[in-house]
Amino acid sequence: LMGKILVSACLAGVRCKYSGGHNLVPVIAELVRQGKAVPVCPESLGGLTIPRPPAEIKGGDGYDVLAGRARVMDKEGRDVTAAFIQGARAALARAREVGPEIIVLKERSPSCGSKLIYDGNFSGATRPGPGVTTALLREYGYKVISEEEFKGEGNPSP
Ligand code: SF4
Repeated sequence: LMGKILVSACLAGVRCKYSGGHNLVPVIAELVRQGKAVPVCPESLGGLTIPRPPAEIKGGDGYDVLAGRARVMDKEGRDVTAAFIQGARAALARAREVGPEIIVLKERSPSCGSKLIYDGNFSGATRPGPGVTTALLREYGYKVISEEEFKGEGNPSP
């Protein structure tokens, strides 16, 4: 079907979300179980705890964070930009090891978002643009799609 893929760990059922929960997509968990997908959680790799306060990008998208034009702030007002960038670099290092054909990351996350991210106001509203990890991976030429696109590409649950 395809070469190896890299996936957001929470999509494979790993409880690495800020809340301590996951975002299980059964077909993705099955690919990990079969050794065809490698799970990665940038925020965990960046040293953030589980659980942790939710965080959003203020004033831009992941490209703006990488360029120093926007910051990642958590809901308690702490600047967590450095941890998000460290996590993105760790995910990039993982991608270089795996050599994935595609990367499937969780839509709307400030790290993993693909087409959309939350808008920085903690209101549930979104804005266009990728998260920090997706932006870095795309800068290095990797194809990143969301789980929503992945399911839409004829990859139904087994
Ligand atoms: Fe999932 Fe990515 Fe958030 Fe980790 S950083 S919990 S992999 S969306």
